[in-house]
Amino acid sequence: MTATIGHFINGQLVTTTGRMQDVHNPATGESERSVLLASKQTVQQAIDSAQAAFPAWRNTPVLKRARVMFKFKQLLEENAEYIGQLIGQEHGKISHDAAGEIQRGIENVEFACGAPQLLKGEHSKNVGPNIDSWSEFQPLGVVTGITPFNFPAMVPLWMFPLAIVCGNTFVLKPSERAPSSTLFIAQLLKQAGLPDGVMNVVNGDKEAVDELLTNPTVKAVSFVGSTAIAEYIYTTANAAGKRCQALGGAKNHAIVMPDADMDNAVNQLLGAAFGSSGERCMALSVVVAVGEKAGDALVEKMQQAMSDLKVGAYSDATNDFGPLISCQHRDKVSGYLSSAEQQGAKIVVDGRGTKVKGYDNGFFIGATLIDGVTADMDSYKAEIFGPVLQVMRVDTMQQAMQLIDGHEYGNGTCIFTRDGEAARYFSDHIQVGMVGINVPLPVPVAYHSFGGWKRSLFGDLHAYGPDGVRFYTKRKTITQRWPSSGVREGATFAFPS
Ligand code: NAD
Repeated sequence: MTATIGHFINGQLVTTTGRMQDVHNPATGESERSVLLASKQTVQQAIDSAQAAFPAWRNTPVLKRARVMFKFKQLLEENAEYIGQLIGQEHGKISHDAAGEIQRGIENVEFACGAPQLLKGEHSKNVGPNIDSWSEFQPLGVVTGITPFNFPAMVPLWMFPLAIVCGNTFVLKPSERAPSSTLFIAQLLKQAGLPDGVMNVVNGDKEAVDELLTNPTVKAVSFVGSTAIAEYIYTTANAAGKRCQALGGAKNHAIVMPDADMDNAVNQLLGAAFGSSGERCMALSVVVAVGEKAGDALVEKMQQAMSDLKVGAYSDATNDFGPLISCQHRDKVSGYLSSAEQQGAKIVVDGRGTKVKGYDNGFFIGATLIDGVTADMDSYKAEIFGPVLQVMRVDTMQQAMQLIDGHEYGNGTCIFTRDGEAARYFSDHIQVGMVGINVPLPVPVAYHSFGGWKRSLFGDLHAYGPDGVRFYTKRKTITQRWPSSGVREGATFAFPS
C-alpha cells in the first residue's frame, strides 16, 4: 500500500478525498507514495486559516517572531539527515548534495532571525519645525509561495521564514513531484512554537495554484519554476492586483579564456554542469571557449575527467549524481541530444543508455558532453535541465559575451580567467543577474538576494535577503507634529516645503 501525502492546515495534517498523483522514487522508478491534489475548497480552507492567524501574528513582537526562527533553525539542523533522505527518495539527489541544499536553506532561516534589526525602519527628526518623520515596514497579510521540484527544501526556505518573521502568514504550494520533505519541514515550525495557521501547506497542481493566484485574500505571490509557468504566474497574479516575483528557467554559460587555469576550470565545470544531474537553475550548461586551442584542451580534459563520474542512488554518498526526476523528463533530455546530433553537433561523451546496477528501472542518464554547438540549435536555445554540457567556440571574449547577452535567459554566468581587467569588464557589462569570476555557481549568500535578468525573472525584487524583506513588507511613512502649546499656526495654501 502506498502512503498518502496530505496538507498542513491550521497546525494539523489534513487528508481529504479527491484527486491524487503518484510520487516516484526516481532511482527505482517505483511509486511508493501518492500526494493529494488540493481542490479549490481545500486551498480556501488554508487561506482562511492564514487569514485568521494574521492579526495576532502581526501584533506579536518581532523579537518573539524571531525566537521561533532560532528554534526552527535548531530543529532543521537536528533533522537534516532525515530531510536529506526524504529529498533523496523523491528527487533522487545524492545525500551530500541534499545536505548542501539544506544548509543553504538554513542560512535563510539565520537571516530571518535578524528580523528585529531588518525591520527597524527609518527615522528623521525635525524634517520641519517640530515635525518628525519615519518609515516603517508593515506585513502584507496572507502571502503564498509556489515552488519547484529541484530544491524541495531550499527554495521554500528562501520564502516562508522571511515572510513569516516580517509578520505575514503563509500558504505554501510545493512541487507535487517531491512534496514530503517540504511538508515535514513545515511541521517543524509548529514544534518551534509557531502559532497554528501562520504556516500552511497545500499540495496540488494547477487547480491549487490558480486559486492562490486569484483569491482576493492573498496579497503576494513568490514563485520559482520554469519560465513558461513563471510568466503565467506573474501576469495572472498582477491582473488580480497582487505583488509578484516569479523566478524562471535558465541557460547558464561559462566563458573559458585562453589564460584560464584549465585543470581548475574543468574541475569546477564538472560539478556545476553535472551536479544534481544538471537539474539546477544555476547549472552551467554551456561552456564557451575563447580560441580554438582553449576549446580543444577543454574538450580533451573534460572527456578524461568525465570517465570517472559515478551515477547512482541517493543513499550511496560515493555517487556524484543521481537520476532525473521522471522518465518523461529523461526522454526529453535524450530528445535534445538526438536533435543536437541531427543539427550537426558532435556527441563526445554520450550518457544515453546509462544503466545502474540494481536500479534497472531508474530514470538515469549519464554525463554528456557535446561539442560544436551553435546558437541556432534547439539544444542551445532550450533549458535542457539534465547532465549535459555543450561546448561552443569563439575567437574573442566580446563574441562570447554577445552569445550570452543574445540568449533569452539571464540567470547565472561565470568567467574562468587569470586576467582581472577582462573579469572586471565582463562582470560590469554582461546582461545576467548573478555573475561568477572563477566561481561556477554564484548563488548569492542569504544576506544578498537571488535573481536573474531577462526571462529568468518576472518582477522587480529578487528572492530572499534585503529584496526579500522589501517584497514581504509594505512601507508606511508617518509624518508627525506636536506643536508647542500656545502656538497657533495660520492656514497656508502653498504646498508644504
Ligand atoms: P514547473 O514550472 O513545472 O513547476 C513549478 C511549480 O509550478 C510547481 O509547484 C507546479 O505545481 C506549478 N505548476 C506547474 N505547471 C503549472 C501550471 N500550468 N499552472 C500553475 N502552476 C503550475 O518547474 P519544475 O519542473 O518543478 O522546476 C524546474 C524549473 O524551475 C526549471 O526551469 C528551473 O530552471 C526552474 N528553477 C528556477 C529557479 C530560479 O531561482 N530561477 C530555481 C529553481 C528552479
